[in-house]
Amino acid sequence: MKYDVIVIGAGMAGLTAAIYLKRAGKNILVLESNVVGGQIISALAVDNWPGEPGVSGADLMKKVNRQVEELGVSVRYEDVLKIVKKNHKFSVATDEDKYSCDAIVVATGTEPRKLSEKQAEDAGMRPISYCATCDGALYKDKTVVVVGSGNTAKHEIKYLEGICSKVYHIHHDEPIPEEAEAVFVAIGRVPATKIVVDLVELDSKGYIEADEDCVTSCPGVFAAGDCRTKEVRQLVTAAGDGAAASEAVLRYLEK
Ligand SMILES: Cc1cc2nc3c(=O)[nH]c(=O)nc-3n(C[C@H](O)[C@H](O)[C@H](O)COP(=O)(O)OP(=O)(O)OC[C@H]3O[C@@H](n4cnc5c(N)ncnc54)[C@H](O)[C@@H]3O)c2cc1C
Repeated sequence: MKYDVIVIGAGMAGLTAAIYLKRAGKNILVLESNVVGGQIISALAVDNWPGEPGVSGADLMKKVNRQVEELGVSVRYEDVLKIVKKNHKFSVATDEDKYSCDAIVVATGTEPRKLSEKQAEDAGMRPISYCATCDGALYKDKTVVVVGSGNTAKHEIKYLEGICSKVYHIHHDEPIPEEAEAVFVAIGRVPATKIVVDLVELDSKGYIEADEDCVTSCPGVFAAGDCRTKEVRQLVTAAGDGAAASEAVLRYLEK
């Protein structure tokens, strides 16, 4: 099917871009590989979203999603695997289908950094989770381990201590204790940009090179939210990018 714009990723940046583009009368499609809402849905309380202190990430994104649904935006749960540009048009291949469009907003955010090869080997067949608030309840009264040393790891440990019988804490290079029945990983996040690696310029850490206008090195491709180079990765900046990217898309399509 052919669209004016395809938005990849239904986190705060992608959904905001979708709202602006749909309201501007564009025929758009949002593609999401996981769940609508993005990474914030695991946050129990968001205290810096203006106007709604303490709102849970899941509740906030439910509201944004409702707004998107009410506008009649098409959202499909498909993983984008490849994007090809030919004669000013884009072809977007997912795990289920193929679409074409005139412009793309990449709003793929970041994903959790995976365990090292050695630790993954240690973990063996034991379940690995990247979100204590999402999966902690599955290990009630069980022994688990948290890998990581930053603030997120501390938060995960505190949360799991209220549910599990024992919570081990190790750093990213230590062996996984044999007693642990599940492994919770909190060793940072990396940009989810592998689908655009051949299309746009990335910085040394893998973020898409784009300024506040969200314009990338490839005409017709715009980057919004945590996946682009920026100083502050937060909900408000992701929403701001969604708006800026959609304005840049509209200017591009006018040409
Ligand atoms: C635990 C936690 C707590 C946080 N707390 C706060 C807070 O209190 N306040 C605050 O402002 N910020 C907070 N943040 C940061 C905030 O969540 C992010 O800055 C914001 O959600 C980024 O939005 P985004 O749309 O750019 O990316 P994301 O939310 O990461 O959304 C990207 C979406 O793209 C999808 N995607 C990726 N690749 C593909 C693909 N190939 N095909 C299709 N879909 C794809 C993903 O599944 C995801 O849904 C927190 C983050 C975490 C992890």
